[in-house]
Amino acid sequence: RKWVYTFGGGKAEGSSADRDHLGGKGANLSEMASLGLPVPPGLTIVSDACAHYYSSGKRLPDDLKAQVLAGIKAIEVETGRGFGDVAHPLLLSVRSGSRTSMPGMMDTVLNLGLNDQTVEALGHHSGDARFAWDSYRRFIQMYGDVVMGLDHEVFEEILEDEKARLGHELDTELSAVEWQHVVSLYKQVIEQELEVPFPQDPDVQLWGAVGAVFSSWMNPRAVTYRMLHKIPAEWGTAVTVQAMVFGNLGSTSATGVAFTRNPSTGEKELYGEFLVNAQGEDVVAGIRTPQSITEAGRIDSGSDKPSMEKLMPEAFAEFQAICARLETHYRDMQDLEFTIERGKLWMLQARSGKRTTKAAMKIAVDMVAEGLISEEEAVMRIEPSSLDQLLHPTIDPRVTRHVIGSGLPASPGAATGEIVFTAEEAVAAEAEGRKVILVRVETSPEDIHGMHAAEAILTTRGGMTSHAAVVARGMGIPCVAGAGTMRVDLRQEKLIGMGVTLGKGDIITIDGSSGQVLKGEVPMLQPELSGDFQKLMQWADRTRRMTVRTNADTPQDARAARSFGAEGIGLCRTEHMFFEGDRIHVMRDMILAEDEAGRRAALDKLLPMQRSDFTELFTIMHGLPVTIRMLDPPLHEFLPKTEEEIDEVANAMGLEPGFMRRRIDALHEFNPMLGHRGCRLAISYPEIAEMQARAIFEAAVSAARETGAAVVPEIMVPLVSLKGELDYVKGVIDRVATEVMREAKLEISYLVGTMIELPRAAIRAHVIAEAAEFFSFGTNDLTQTTFGMSRDDAAAFIPTYQRKGIIVQDPFISLDFDGVGELIRIAAERGRRTRPDMKLGICGEHGGDPTSIHFCEDVGLDYVSCSPFRVPIARLSAAQAAI
Ligand code: ADP
Ligand code: MG
Ligand code: MG
Repeated sequence: RKWVYTFGGGKAEGSSADRDHLGGKGANLSEMASLGLPVPPGLTIVSDACAHYYSSGKRLPDDLKAQVLAGIKAIEVETGRGFGDVAHPLLLSVRSGSRTSMPGMMDTVLNLGLNDQTVEALGHHSGDARFAWDSYRRFIQMYGDVVMGLDHEVFEEILEDEKARLGHELDTELSAVEWQHVVSLYKQVIEQELEVPFPQDPDVQLWGAVGAVFSSWMNPRAVTYRMLHKIPAEWGTAVTVQAMVFGNLGSTSATGVAFTRNPSTGEKELYGEFLVNAQGEDVVAGIRTPQSITEAGRIDSGSDKPSMEKLMPEAFAEFQAICARLETHYRDMQDLEFTIERGKLWMLQARSGKRTTKAAMKIAVDMVAEGLISEEEAVMRIEPSSLDQLLHPTIDPRVTRHVIGSGLPASPGAATGEIVFTAEEAVAAEAEGRKVILVRVETSPEDIHGMHAAEAILTTRGGMTSHAAVVARGMGIPCVAGAGTMRVDLRQEKLIGMGVTLGKGDIITIDGSSGQVLKGEVPMLQPELSGDFQKLMQWADRTRRMTVRTNADTPQDARAARSFGAEGIGLCRTEHMFFEGDRIHVMRDMILAEDEAGRRAALDKLLPMQRSDFTELFTIMHGLPVTIRMLDPPLHEFLPKTEEEIDEVANAMGLEPGFMRRRIDALHEFNPMLGHRGCRLAISYPEIAEMQARAIFEAAVSAARETGAAVVPEIMVPLVSLKGELDYVKGVIDRVATEVMREAKLEISYLVGTMIELPRAAIRAHVIAEAAEFFSFGTNDLTQTTFGMSRDDAAAFIPTYQRKGIIVQDPFISLDFDGVGELIRIAAERGRRTRPDMKLGICGEHGGDPTSIHFCEDVGLDYVSCSPFRVPIARLSAAQAAI
């Protein structure tokens, strides 16, 4: 069985097509090697070996060792060095990488192969002893941390103490002898703390590192990341073992990261940062402030440190050419890692760059114009749920800003919240429903859960490619990074900037688009949608088959949804109209009435109110379909709950509180979700259905007269499980329709249909379809009733289910394809058997969820309906589902 794929010297056994086995990093290194780009030779152990490692009690496959050794032989031949050779030592990096990139989640070990002998040889051979000892101390520190499990802070403390003792400020100021001393201190602390010596045998080092990379797949931050990004644990990680190249070999050496286009704006310009005489993660770690790669970038950031373009013009030119080549090759914006060793450029990683939604739109639209991708590909390039980002508020430009600091505009959007200084506090505050800004010197992968809980992130150290910046852009939350003028005092829990000292709980506003940090709360503007957005949406609309409607209960909702491109209303919940203003009093009169006559008197008052709402909705939707659901919730939902409320309402209505209590008791239900609601109300109190039907038809008449557009109301009867129920309510509706049309002398066409939200209705769909002219899947209730699980109570146990691996997705967020989905399939198929041209739609929360929308496309629904702000997401998802 082939566990190992080699690359280097202009060829490779794998390619970017093998990312499922080689991981993204390994696959792209192979691809770049095949393209003839300068890639240090190496080998990749496939991720299946990781799966094997876990399924066999953390043992590596038997035949793996020989294959790796053969691969290392090839690296030795290519580099002319020997692994463990005391004259010409080959040093290796051991790198992790799964199918999808999990930046910084797993561990890397650099400079592997160094020991007390090879370090001397490295110094001798390079003519730079300082470099050799610097590399050795880096190796011990990484290996000690990643493989041996000693906290990296132990090493950092030693280094800080040494620097203080020697009077150095920067790492680069330490001499060979001084580093040598640090190395001896590092080795001492390992022996002291772990009671084993630092391993000198390169083979032992290698297998230790490979094992550690596999183990890092299961470390808590990687597990959290996978949960958040829905990455299955079975995938495992590949391991790449690669010859080292050195960015820490003096002033003609450097290491850096770059994007082929600006990841914030999408502008077509090379964008990146580098550090001279540095290695590995120095750039992202924020140890020194990195320099811009391009001259333009340097000028933009107002930095006086020379750009790579100026400092290393040849390497820069070569890098620029490679960027162009890789973009054309992969037909996407690339995120690249590189190192320059004594003027020679080496490529260390290529992957599709993470970007803001705004940048994603611009890049997709630009690439269509450049002829790199098709319109359909452009549509596929945008993650539908990321459109939320475009809907972020921005600070009203007219207000005066009380700026207390500024940093890099690392992730766009503005947000206000209380200051917290730790991830834990952020999580706790979110659980209490408070909005917080996470303020850190810098963030690390351990902070992920806190970043998720925060409205925005502020760091005082690090660049545009720092951990905080990358992660915030990915999450779509605003971030200001590297606000160097501000200071965080963690011990005192203070944030200090421009003479202002703020503490935990104080309110600040972060403007991730300008990089400013403001004191207090600031008025915000709602976002406008760009030309790129409009263009992509046009392409999406051209591609999709399903239409997208909205769930709108009020004229405001309906207007917003129209502006987002909704093509009708899929669900108008009429009960919401009864809560507005003093309508609730009339509603209560109706509910508390002791007989039909009393109810009718109250309903007569409600009629004009409902009619005017419907008229407005019909007018806004101007001939587009509008689905109106008959009253659904149990009546007691409209009545007061607490004793004080009851007294108050009774008083206001001029009723005896005791009488009120008796009525409330009479309406009490043990399980309201399965109680006297939906069509059951219309059957008990047909006068309510009559009033609603009359309001709808009279509104249709007046809207049709006003707008001249034909209004086709679709009247939806909720919670039907028996055909007889629908027959009865439909009888009421049809009778009222006939009356209104006779009175108005105007023909209105309308449909009467039902929600499919009970398992019995789904199974008996062929029978119900004899009466129903359309079905709309009410997947919230259908999920509740299929699982027998109440949505409002599920929060108590769903997260536990997820943690224990019993379910992956909350079925109330993403449709349960296997169970609820099966019922939808059955109902769609049986319904259409009876009524082939029957219109089918979905109106539950799932109508705005991208994966659920794919399912709806599969089943052949005609439309999805979702909340107004999700309409663009649904339009895009529906297009992607159709491609
Ligand atoms: P991550 O997945 O966290 O980005 P990488 O495997 O890319 O981890 O390694 C992190 C950094 O280590 C790289 O960006 C690069 O600077 C450095 N590095 C990795 N491999 C090599 C190598 N062969 N030579 C020099 N530097 C390397
Ligand atoms: Mg990397
Ligand atoms: Mg329902």
